[in-house]
Amino acid sequence: GETIGILGGGQLGRMMAFAAARLGYRVHIFAPEADSIAAEVCSRFTCADYTDEAALARFAADCAVITYEFENVPVAPLAAVGATPLLPHPRALETAQDRLNEKRFVTALGGRPAPFMAVDGAQDLARAVAEIGAPGILKTRRDGYDGKGQWRIMTPADAEGLDLPPQALIYEGFVTFFGEFSVILARAADGSVQFWDSAENVHVNGILDTSTVPAGAAIAAQVPEARALAQKVAEALDYVGVLTLEFFATEDGPVFNEMAPRVHNSGHWTIEGAITSQFENHIRAVCGLPLGLTTLAVPGARMLNLIGDDAHDWAEILADPANHLHLYGKAAARPGRKMGHVTRLKLEA
Ligand code: ATP
Ligand code: MG
Ligand code: MG
Repeated sequence: GETIGILGGGQLGRMMAFAAARLGYRVHIFAPEADSIAAEVCSRFTCADYTDEAALARFAADCAVITYEFENVPVAPLAAVGATPLLPHPRALETAQDRLNEKRFVTALGGRPAPFMAVDGAQDLARAVAEIGAPGILKTRRDGYDGKGQWRIMTPADAEGLDLPPQALIYEGFVTFFGEFSVILARAADGSVQFWDSAENVHVNGILDTSTVPAGAAIAAQVPEARALAQKVAEALDYVGVLTLEFFATEDGPVFNEMAPRVHNSGHWTIEGAITSQFENHIRAVCGLPLGLTTLAVPGARMLNLIGDDAHDWAEILADPANHLHLYGKAAARPGRKMGHVTRLKLEA
């Protein structure tokens, strides 16, 4: 079959590669890490830096289409892929790689993020805390994930005592929420859009811990407004593939947190819990194929991340036949590192 290229070598690429293989595609992974866990399950692996334009050009020559699983791929060198289609369009990367751009973009489409201000030094931070108030969160504009590159500011004094990192930053007001949820959609090349059920997401120490579908009624009531925004974002970007928006559910309705131009950890439950998974529909979309049904395959599901070096007894987890175990094959467990996940299907309504 044809070859799909994937930029990025982590667990999202690995699960995408499984979905692509099932559809008969060959997969070529491009990633800088020699021990890529996606490369382990692909047909071909280029281990090179994302800025290596010659390597990107050779990779592209091998692929019918290129997609990505990593949202921080540098955009400028991607011109080296030449005529090979790159989907979703890199403008989605450009928008989502910078929290300031992303919030401005979504605000222009009618979305409501927490109040925010750019911070490029101690003076800016003092001004932002005075204007927006504390508590709040200072975040790096770029490269953050799993809550890394974030500082909680509880009082203005916290801000004064902070040794600012050299990167461009953003300060945002702390949102009082009663829950978090994500909207995950797939948009096909013909513009048709399908949504999965929105999972209720619980984070621990800034890292996703569980995603549960169906979400409770209070969250479900906020999903239509959040979906309408996500669809506007997808259309504004002429997006092809799977797109995720994260929201806080608040007494005043859904507050936009951030977007990810890719498949998402809060959608892993779709592998067993939905008729078609986020990974399969992403592959279908970027290959110009029709989307599969996104509806629930079971009454409900809960995905639990396996983080760091917590000891688990796999046999004990699998002793419950409603549990599905996914291990990513990462050699070294580090605190906070995502090692795998368990999806527990709810088999009765
Ligand atoms: P991801 O791995 O989802 O990309 P990230 O590093 O980009 O994570 P965020 O989504 O910005 O981080 O924040 C992680 C979590 O921290 C959020 O899901 C939420 O629980 C909490 N959080 C972040 N920003 C705020 C805020 N302004 N108000 C309240 N809680 C917040
Ligand atoms: Mg993020
Ligand atoms: Mg997040």
